[in-house]
Amino acid sequence: MKLTVLGCNGPYPAAGGACSGYLLEAGDTRVLLDCGTGTLAALTAILPPEELDAIVLSHLHYDHMSDMLPLIYRIQGKPKLPVYAPMEPAGVRGLLSDAFDLRDLGQGGMIGSLKMTVLPTRHPVPAYATRFEGMGKVFCYTGDTNTCAGLAAFAQGCDLLLADACFTDALWAESKPHLSSRLAAEAAREAGARHLLLTHFTPGSELDTLLRQGREAFPRAALAEAGLTLSF
Ligand SMILES: [Zn+2]
Ligand SMILES: [Zn+2]
Repeated sequence: MKLTVLGCNGPYPAAGGACSGYLLEAGDTRVLLDCGTGTLAALTAILPPEELDAIVLSHLHYDHMSDMLPLIYRIQGKPKLPVYAPMEPAGVRGLLSDAFDLRDLGQGGMIGSLKMTVLPTRHPVPAYATRFEGMGKVFCYTGDTNTCAGLAAFAQGCDLLLADACFTDALWAESKPHLSSRLAAEAAREAGARHLLLTHFTPGSELDTLLRQGREAFPRAALAEAGLTLSF
């Protein structure tokens, strides 16, 4: 499998940056995970979006889906792309219903050669972690979440965990909508993940601190960065 980071900011992009968007490739299967601000341009530099097998939106916050709207213009008149998204908020989902083959992410599904399973996470709107299995490999993405029952079990034995790591220890609280890098790393350790990629960085956040605190729990932790590609 191969993961390319198209954007890793949230909830708004850094100067010259992009919000959440990741291209997952496994053999001939190509899945776009989230489609936040700025990711459509980065994706289009790699492949025509109409060649995707599906788009999976972990949740319907704008920093994970806003580039779906100009994508509607690009794919007009072409076969409808399968899009997996939560059923709520219905108003945001409704923006996509005419242009895409819209499905319920909560049901999981098969995308090309990949079996996708999901876990509801803890975030202000319905959100899911996703697990993709195929070609003898496993990839997991937390989407946006704070501490969440069953997350480590869901990610058990994965080859790569892509995890929300928005907060340093000092800024994290149980009431906030995101994990800290340390908590993401503890989940990776508990899951027995082979690799961990930390993501969802607020512009101006202390990346050195996020990485150091993550590595205290999972020494092989790395920071996502737009343009980064990992083969695993
Ligand atoms: Zn987000
Ligand atoms: Zn969110």
